[in-house]
Amino acid sequence: KATDAQDLMQLTEQYGANNYHPLPIVIAKAEGVWVEDTAGKRYMDMLSAYSAVNQGHRHPKIIKALIEQAQKVTLTSRAFHNDQLGLWYEKVASLTGKDMILPMNTGAEAVETAFKAARRWGYDVKGIADEQAEVIVCSGNFHGRTMTAVSLSSEAEYRRGFGPMIPGIKDIPYGDLDALKSAITPNTAAFILEPIQGEAGIIIPPEGYLKAASELCKEENVLFIADEIQVGLGRTGKRFACDWEDVTPDLFILGKALGGGVFPISCVAGDKDVLGVFNPGSHGSTFGGNPLACAVSIAALDVLEEEDLAARSQRLGTYLQEQLQQLTSDKIKEIRGRGLFVGIELTEPARPYCEKLKELGVLCKETHETVIRIAPPLVITEDELEWALERLKQVLQ
Ligand code: PLP
Repeated sequence: KATDAQDLMQLTEQYGANNYHPLPIVIAKAEGVWVEDTAGKRYMDMLSAYSAVNQGHRHPKIIKALIEQAQKVTLTSRAFHNDQLGLWYEKVASLTGKDMILPMNTGAEAVETAFKAARRWGYDVKGIADEQAEVIVCSGNFHGRTMTAVSLSSEAEYRRGFGPMIPGIKDIPYGDLDALKSAITPNTAAFILEPIQGEAGIIIPPEGYLKAASELCKEENVLFIADEIQVGLGRTGKRFACDWEDVTPDLFILGKALGGGVFPISCVAGDKDVLGVFNPGSHGSTFGGNPLACAVSIAALDVLEEEDLAARSQRLGTYLQEQLQQLTSDKIKEIRGRGLFVGIELTEPARPYCEKLKELGVLCKETHETVIRIAPPLVITEDELEWALERLKQVLQ
């Protein structure tokens, strides 16, 4: 049995489909903001599995919930009730202020669910003629990798070779209210967007855009759907990124940190007039709403609340951005972010910088070629953040 890092990477290269390009490190352990490779070298995790580990790796309270639930019941399917799902519904309903929740497993499945809800709402409630529903999305979006999600995407490489795409999707520039106005027709069922675009390189829309776009959608009887999978649950310094403009979307799409980085769980949250369009037989998932995921998710949401991780993200993120702004390298084009969700945009490819940071014990991943994304677990301490800053300065200055 291979234990050496080189051998383990060789195995993944030999047998794995080639759909990722990971940094050459093999992680064997993790705790809090730290991960450890097979040789015992420690690194600080500045990616948090794309915001899935907001609560920190293996948070004791979440692991306790996992173990206790695993010793009772893990999967019932939705053919029967389980004793965790109702409690989890209640928790997510109170978190989002929504009447109804639909549980899935991965982010892309939750996006798929919201898309189906939007189309059916378009036909059954709004009265759009059969097969005519349209959905508006923003260029540069990332909503996942299923056929619906790649159909929503404007990225050639996400789509190449996978056509024909799902029809009825219109793409407009992100942050452009006039474009949204022009794109809406009587057949528009929904506008789906990320309140801050993550994979596109931490793109924050112009101030007032979310509010104005959501009001426009309300006036036009179009659902405003926020994909908060990466930016929700404390990541940007608020409970949801929509909270930055006091916007309540018709549907929230949640995932990633909903399972505390421990167990996959995602969902769509909305009011009865929208999510009520589903009936038995119209949608589902064997693992969706399983008791293990629900028990883990309840603990994961408790941790966010009890440790006030959104406020922590805002406080430490502001400090991090202030410190980074002081760097004077001509390689830095822009530093932007909200809370502990920060993009350092360079004038050249970011990957070599991520490789150098890795040598110094800081794990980051470039996004869109030239952006280094800094997104540590929100449980990071002041001292740990200083430790990371020293290394960032060393590499970037
Ligand atoms: N939506 C957004 C905004 C995301 O960032 C992601 C993942 O990065 C997804 C959807 C897809 O989630 P998953 O990878 O769990 O399918």
